[in-house]
Amino acid sequence: MPFASLGLTPALVRTARDEGYDAPTAVQAAALPPILAGRDVLALAQTGSGKTAAFALPLLQLLVQGTARRDPRVLVLAPTRELAAQTAELFRNLAARLLDRPRCALAFGGVSINPQLMALRGGCDVMVATPGRLLDLLDHNGLTLAGVECLVLDEADRLLNQGFADELQRVLTLLPKRHQTLLFSATCPPAVQALAEQLLHEPVRITI
Ligand code: AMP
Repeated sequence: MPFASLGLTPALVRTARDEGYDAPTAVQAAALPPILAGRDVLALAQTGSGKTAAFALPLLQLLVQGTARRDPRVLVLAPTRELAAQTAELFRNLAARLLDRPRCALAFGGVSINPQLMALRGGCDVMVATPGRLLDLLDHNGLTLAGVECLVLDEADRLLNQGFADELQRVLTLLPKRHQTLLFSATCPPAVQALAEQLLHEPVRITI
């Protein structure tokens, strides 16, 4: 099935092709239509399945269609610096080929916060962060989450395993009441199931 029949605009289809994606992977074929329709999604998919592009492509399309603001409209939480960096790199690679060039900021702990605060001064459309550093940036007034339209929990099982449950709950209190939530996880232990029940409204369930 081609990308175009999943609801991606020609510009995003070209962007995917330029990235080397000729046809969608299984998780992309299943996730793109509900994400573009604004639905909540629970996707059980492993690393290597193409899960990152499964949310990056449709969210970039939603960003291009909306109005840019100073603060992020998409928030991606990732469990590790490496995963956050890879996800931000994909958003940036894809966005660089779009006319509007949505801006993606990246933040993780273990390094000085100052360059990350400076980078946020110009605003961003997508914020990819580990939870602890995101809270630090919020405490420093580096950004607000009041304009977030979509929250992505990437590798939710690892987010919980790494002890980010409390940080996650604090972040949730700062989001607008109405927003889309996408929960991606390789496994679905009871803690992930409970999080899904707390966060997701009538989700589309995808198992790859
Ligand atoms: P991920 O599951 O997001 O870690 O992606 C795994 C790898 O699959 C990455 O190196 C992507 O470049 C690649 N990939 C993602 N989507 C596609 C696609 N539709 N066609 C070919 N390769 C893809």
